Amino acid sequence: MSSDQPPKRPERAVKRAAPSALPAPVAPATPHVASALAASSPWAYAPAPESKELALIRPRYGLFIDGQERAPASGEVVITYNPATEEPLAEVAKGGAEDADRAISAAERAYRKVWSKLAPRERAKYLYRISRILQERSREFAVTETLDSGKPIRESRDVDVPLAAAHFWYYAGWADKLQYAVPGRRPESHGVVGQVIPWNFPLLMLAWKIAPALAAGNTVVLKPASTTPLTALLFADVCRQADLPPGVVNIITGPGEMGMAIATDPRVAKVAFTGSTSVGIKIAQGIAGHGKALTLELGGKAANIVFEDAALDQAVEGVINGIFFNQGEVCCAGSRLLVQESIAEDFIARLKDRMSTLRVGDPMDKNTDVGAINSRAQMETIGELVASGVAEGANLWQPECVLPDRGWFYKPTLFTNVAQSHRIAREEIFGPVLSTITFRTVDEAIEKANNTAYGLSAGIWTEKGSRILQVAAQLKAGVVWANTFNRFDPTSPFGGYKESGYGREGGLQGLHAYLRSS
Ligand code: NDP
Repeated sequence: MSSDQPPKRPERAVKRAAPSALPAPVAPATPHVASALAASSPWAYAPAPESKELALIRPRYGLFIDGQERAPASGEVVITYNPATEEPLAEVAKGGAEDADRAISAAERAYRKVWSKLAPRERAKYLYRISRILQERSREFAVTETLDSGKPIRESRDVDVPLAAAHFWYYAGWADKLQYAVPGRRPESHGVVGQVIPWNFPLLMLAWKIAPALAAGNTVVLKPASTTPLTALLFADVCRQADLPPGVVNIITGPGEMGMAIATDPRVAKVAFTGSTSVGIKIAQGIAGHGKALTLELGGKAANIVFEDAALDQAVEGVINGIFFNQGEVCCAGSRLLVQESIAEDFIARLKDRMSTLRVGDPMDKNTDVGAINSRAQMETIGELVASGVAEGANLWQPECVLPDRGWFYKPTLFTNVAQSHRIAREEIFGPVLSTITFRTVDEAIEKANNTAYGLSAGIWTEKGSRILQVAAQLKAGVVWANTFNRFDPTSPFGGYKESGYGREGGLQGLHAYLRSS
């Protein structure tokens, strides 16, 4: 991005609080003998840090409107921090309603004059180009994502960035085949779409939203989360590199109110939001009665159900991946372990052994399994919910591991003796905390799995195919994984029931969300 109009010198509005001491994590209730592979053993891994120099982070970023970098009307900035070190990374423009208005005007103009007039196969070329550039610049994106979000470099490198590129590639293929997406009807774009995304998968959520929107012929105004704006701003640079016509994609940083200003603007015909259920409800209320299309991808409290006939070590891996991937800051995380009573003791012992080998620490280290929590506020939410679990009578266990002196880190945490009424069994913790509940029969497992206000995802572990089909059909969850967990693919739709939201992203269904069909 060019810096022809850099933001004025700040009155600083600091989104993340300045570093200070956090409440100590609750001590383990039961001691555990560390596994032979634990970090403190002779088998400990040597550090393998990725180079920070691969991320060319500038000291300051403006708003990306109409193909150019612009100063925010307020002249203010917010600072984005590295959650692993608590050090500032960059100053980012603090946009507001006036900037949202400018961005929507640019998107509306680009839609009317350019994007809606372009032959679909030409739109496809831009999407393919964006996908290729993301692949070419993948290391830069992975490092930037890890520095800004705290997620392990292994995950940004192997999951977030390749999947983001794959989404653009997949939807590029749809751009000139829209009539086959809605057979017998005439597909039309909405016009300008407004998109608000969260901090747990900053680039991937951007790709989930922008790729189908552009393929369907819409133009976009997108707001990233305030704690993780950098890969979205880097993506603005990709748009320029791909020669995307100005105004087709606009990326504006700013607080939640600016997200609401985008959603409620009458020129925005479709809104897509991923984040907390409480904000999703506010957006739905804010736009009600205006005929806007809306998709909401909100929270979850997924059950990962392990039956006694499952391949136990494989199931342990799946449970570990289900809750500790991205520090558990995942809407579809398998945060409730439902384990059959007959194997519970054996399974929990194996799980503790495996948890003792998790490497928690520097997200830039290629060996790290569990990185930093995204913000101090999120650390406090996790701490508060864990304390409630102890107070309500559940048994807490954490492996012996040394956390870094600085940064926002939380020990992998396992709760047993959890009742369904406990907050840790009902509320989304969004952290590396697993709550275990036992069951005896298949019906009891299904009933307990569905006993939640959410309905985003679930996992089933069994060797019987018939049981997978029987249970999956009765689970009220948008995605059900069998003998695996947290698998994502651009061709596969993703979304929820109940308080997990409505509408689907990904696949053909995700394309439908960006089309009106007559
Ligand atoms: P939010 O829902 O507040 O944030 C998600 C996005 O919405 C961010 O871009 C945020 O902007 C924006 N936003 C905030 N308020 C408004 C508003 N009134 N109108 C429009 N947009 C708004 O999530 P939090 O960051 O507060 O996280 C809280 C909890 O939400 C977590 O603990 C977790 O349980 C859940 N969550 C779920 C996610 C999911 O993927 N389902 C993702 C993130 C959080 P800004 O960053 O500027 O505040």
